[in-house]
Amino acid sequence: MLWIKSFYTTWIVFIAFAPYLNAQEIDVLNKVVKLGPDSVVLQVYKVGTKTPGYCYVHLHENETASLEAGFRMLLKHGGTLLTIRHSAPGTVNRNITFQIDGSKFEVDPNRIFTGDDTVLIQNIKHNHASNTSREKALHAVQMLSKAIWSEVKSYETIVALHNNKNHPASCERKGWFGRQLMPESYNITSYVMKNDLASESSMSANAIYINPGINNSDFFIVTKAEDFDALQKAKMSVVLQNENPLDDGSMSVFAYSQNKRYFNAEAKMGKVDFQFTMLETLHSILTHQRL
Ligand SMILES: [Zn+2]
Repeated sequence: MLWIKSFYTTWIVFIAFAPYLNAQEIDVLNKVVKLGPDSVVLQVYKVGTKTPGYCYVHLHENETASLEAGFRMLLKHGGTLLTIRHSAPGTVNRNITFQIDGSKFEVDPNRIFTGDDTVLIQNIKHNHASNTSREKALHAVQMLSKAIWSEVKSYETIVALHNNKNHPASCERKGWFGRQLMPESYNITSYVMKNDLASESSMSANAIYINPGINNSDFFIVTKAEDFDALQKAKMSVVLQNENPLDDGSMSVFAYSQNKRYFNAEAKMGKVDFQFTMLETLHSILTHQRL
């Protein structure tokens, strides 16, 4: 059924972006990585022969606004975009689920980029799987991360596309009488130390610039000080990751270890237009610097 899924996705893209097409051809390369009997399809879209010199990476299937903003950029300026498909047609999920020897496993595709097996095995969730099955799951996930990285490693600059939920802290009903405090969702202030308490995020940031006129969900994470300065000058909210980030298996930390110039473009789910504006700003910074 894989070819049907790819065909389906490709036509969705063509129909959705037909108004932006300017006699440019879209090449789509599909690569299948097996995780037991389940599969992840890597889709690499290329538009134009003169590419801007960076690669978009979209790892969370359910973050559709960032994918749409990335496609708009691709069709306007040309370039390369990698995305992954692992859910049934018509559905999208953040995490990849798969089975090995009948045991179920689940992993966040942005927590698989690490050379440290201890970190990786902790990031693969399972329900009482045997050690043998866990070893097989580890190997399969390593193959997946290598396959993704081999598609993007030739680019000096990587632009990751993400969306977040952006909901405030709330008290939600749990059962008939109980209530549960739900913390504020991930946003740029997650990188600020609060109430004298450091968090994993605040410990991985060196500097932060917040434009008070931009929503707290919409910001960049960068790994180089000069990119922080350029985005701040362009009035975009931005976080500078520090030189010793915690190895959590994310592509941002791995890319830094591989000396890549890396950008994470975060925006609230559904905010395609603003994320497109963010990517246009970044594109002008990246292309002007190349001249
Ligand atoms: Zn994401």
